[in-house]
Amino acid sequence: MQDIRWKAGLFICALIVIALFSWLVSDVTTALLIFSTSLLVYIANHIFWLQHLQTWFKKPALKDIPEGLGLWEDVFNLLLKYERNNTANQTQLNSALERFNLATSAMPDGLVILSSSNEIEWCTPNAENQLGLDLKTDKNLPIVNLIRNSHFISYLYNEQYHEPFKLKSWRNPDMVLEIQLIPFADNQKLLISHDMTQLEKVDVMRRDFIANVSHELRTPLTVVGGFLETLIDMEGAVPDKLKPYFAMMEEQTLRMRRIIEDLLTLSTIESNTEEPDNSQIDMPSLLKSVQNDALGLSQSLNKIKHNIRLVVDPKLNLTGSMDELRSVFSNLVSNAIRYTPTNNADKPGEIEISWGLQGGEAIFCVKDSGIGIEQRHIDRLTERFYRVDRSRSRETGGTGLGLSIVKHILIRHQAKLEISSELGVGSTFSAIFPKSRIVQAK
Ligand code: ADP
Repeated sequence: MQDIRWKAGLFICALIVIALFSWLVSDVTTALLIFSTSLLVYIANHIFWLQHLQTWFKKPALKDIPEGLGLWEDVFNLLLKYERNNTANQTQLNSALERFNLATSAMPDGLVILSSSNEIEWCTPNAENQLGLDLKTDKNLPIVNLIRNSHFISYLYNEQYHEPFKLKSWRNPDMVLEIQLIPFADNQKLLISHDMTQLEKVDVMRRDFIANVSHELRTPLTVVGGFLETLIDMEGAVPDKLKPYFAMMEEQTLRMRRIIEDLLTLSTIESNTEEPDNSQIDMPSLLKSVQNDALGLSQSLNKIKHNIRLVVDPKLNLTGSMDELRSVFSNLVSNAIRYTPTNNADKPGEIEISWGLQGGEAIFCVKDSGIGIEQRHIDRLTERFYRVDRSRSRETGGTGLGLSIVKHILIRHQAKLEISSELGVGSTFSAIFPKSRIVQAK
């Protein structure tokens, strides 16, 4: 195909040659007349085809592309080629999109794409079913207008998406969903909803079983413990040589009672889906009392006390359940004391409890100079009954459930636990609370 400029140039040159020739054989007027008439016809021809092109653009269809004449034949041929490629690409794209739609519809999980301002851009039929959405009517609506669950709304705005979030379906109270938000591209989010109903049922059965067993064991153990205590206290009831065995029996019953109490606490917290009590907690005074309890524990476990320092931001308070959070702070501080031996009289154990703001989050931190933990254990410490050193845990009255309780209470408060430690140097346990729970005192 020749360049259009060449063809147009050749045509004009031919016109000029014809006009010059007419001048030679006739006169200048005839030559100018022939030249201008031909030029007019040439321009009219272009206008004619331009009109065709414009009409085609108004309703572009491959089969309606005009054939054209001269230069326009080339132009329309190029357009035809371009449109054919375009149609082929479009068909390919459509079939890829169709396959993608089929694949996402076949997924048991629901997918929703949210814009940077949390409006629904697209979702799969499963997401429509699970979350009660309708893409036709809900497209471009804010997701919070459709999922009006306060836990979900705070999960969305707190931007702590590392952990999934459990949502009870309001359309079907028996359905439990696990929601995970994944940020991508330009502040957009992918919401994945996973139906957890069956798993949740098994989990509820497991929790109920543990709670029932613990309840059933509590009464007989209290009776056995009570009788043992009475026998030990009763003058002459226990022969002297049996006394150490009775003391051991009493110690073991006490240990079992502590385990049962912790198991009951854990199953109560786990099965509690209600928002924790959101009262404002005076953190400086709560932490002062935790420090006092810690000093008492340190004294009862060791002859030499630990140095327990408290560094508190006096204006920083928190909203949440006072009882639950006291249990978190006490557990972490008592662990620091129990795993910081003070055998060396010249070097007492150092424990620092701190409470302050860091990067917009509120951080409760307990740092000890204790035995430390090997890196490979750290991820498993919050599992039930996971203990690095069983005998030390037992000797100091541990149940192996303290950190599980801590973890669950923190999840209920949208907070997280971070642990860093070095063997033989010490450990740092940090509970990190989101902005939404912070209250600054005046
Ligand atoms: P336990 O009742 O056994 O202390 P926890 O759940 O509180 O149970 O802790 C789990 C395990 O984590 C402990 O057995 C111990 O091995 C380890 N651990 C917890 N806190 C500390 C700490 N401050 N220093 C060293 N090890 C710790």
